[in-house]
Amino acid sequence: MEIKAIRGMNDILPGDIAKWHFVENTARRIFHLYGFSELRPPVLERTELFFRGIGDDTDVVEKQMYTFIDKSGTSVALRPEATASVLRSVIEHGLLGMDPIQKIYSIGPMFRYERPQKGRYRQFHQINVERLGEDSPSSDAETLSMAYDLASALGLGGLRMEVNSLGCDECRQEFKKTLMAFLQDKEKSLCSDCSRRMKTNPLRVLDCKVVSCRQAVEGAPAIENFLCEGCRVHYEKVQSALMAFDVPFEKNPRLVRGLDYYTRTTFELTAEGLGSQNAVAGGGRYDNLIQTLGGPDVSGIGFAFGLERIIMLLDQHAPEKNGCFVVLQEDEAVQKSSLELLSMLRSAQIPAEAAFDKSFKAQMRKAGKSGYPLCLILGQAELEQSIVTIKDLQASSQIQVPRAEVLQKIRSMLDK
Ligand code: AMP
Repeated sequence: MEIKAIRGMNDILPGDIAKWHFVENTARRIFHLYGFSELRPPVLERTELFFRGIGDDTDVVEKQMYTFIDKSGTSVALRPEATASVLRSVIEHGLLGMDPIQKIYSIGPMFRYERPQKGRYRQFHQINVERLGEDSPSSDAETLSMAYDLASALGLGGLRMEVNSLGCDECRQEFKKTLMAFLQDKEKSLCSDCSRRMKTNPLRVLDCKVVSCRQAVEGAPAIENFLCEGCRVHYEKVQSALMAFDVPFEKNPRLVRGLDYYTRTTFELTAEGLGSQNAVAGGGRYDNLIQTLGGPDVSGIGFAFGLERIIMLLDQHAPEKNGCFVVLQEDEAVQKSSLELLSMLRSAQIPAEAAFDKSFKAQMRKAGKSGYPLCLILGQAELEQSIVTIKDLQASSQIQVPRAEVLQKIRSMLDK
């Protein structure tokens, strides 16, 4: 019997890979402009890391983690997000001791046991950014600006950057109390998760997507009115720095992110065309997390982009195949010189492909569908005259050039 992939875990097929490369390469290019470097942590960590890092009261840890006991009896988990892993790595290798400011990104798969639907999978990919060691509101704004620049460079339409401040431990206490009192007589209209959260983590009720919960929190107090002086000034400065970086944004007092560790600045970036799962990126400041994980008392801010949702928006992005299709002859001696041509093209960094075991006609058909702009033919006649026929597959025209000039001609035709 045929064995199929596990539900919610997708293959990324060759027909789609150009889009993935485009997104990953664009991210690398933008992050380089801002001075960020890559770190690649493993996908498997001790379960405890996520309990401590993300908070055991969050959906991600409580319900969605892929956890198992390995052969040595250790409880391990497939990472549901990257921040805890990256911070574990930074602490373990003492990176902050080498440079107290760390600007890091990572790209890779995450695992959450969620109900799969369009835009929501059990293995999905994130581009993740962590910036450690800076408290300045301008560093928040610069981080948000980098997220916005990436979304723009990817060509995502209808971008909306929503920001909020979740305050610090002190101002949040006061807000939590007021929010709990507000939610008290709404309990009947809350979903079962929220009536539980109401007592443990009432902020999460503000974030619930269930319609009755959304209605219940209409008119709820806004955290902005509870910010202490330090948090209020920080939030104002973030906003004015965002303006200086020319990042359009909207304040959303209901924006609470799903993970527990956020403090002060939080944000979400949404794009057009994704329906209900329209968040492509989200993140925020986490001033206590590094210490919680056993590191120094250093603050941080970060964000994550979901790659699958971006890829869905890039459906029109045709892969660029800037190279040549080389048609082979049956005659062995003639074919040999085409093989030499293939090798010469690749040595000159020009992508080149041929199809073996096919008739001349079938090869020409394949060349037409290959996506390459050029097709090269080197037959008996060409061999005798030491020339190559170059066919422009888009214009359906062809020219013959001396073999010694073929590279130069192809380069100019491919504009390489
Ligand atoms: P989070 O780590 O929950 O803040 O999510 C950050 C981003 O990752 C979201 O905005 C989504 O784009 C993406 N994401 C989160 N969960 C999933 C999932 N189960 N499937 C696909 N993408 C996801």
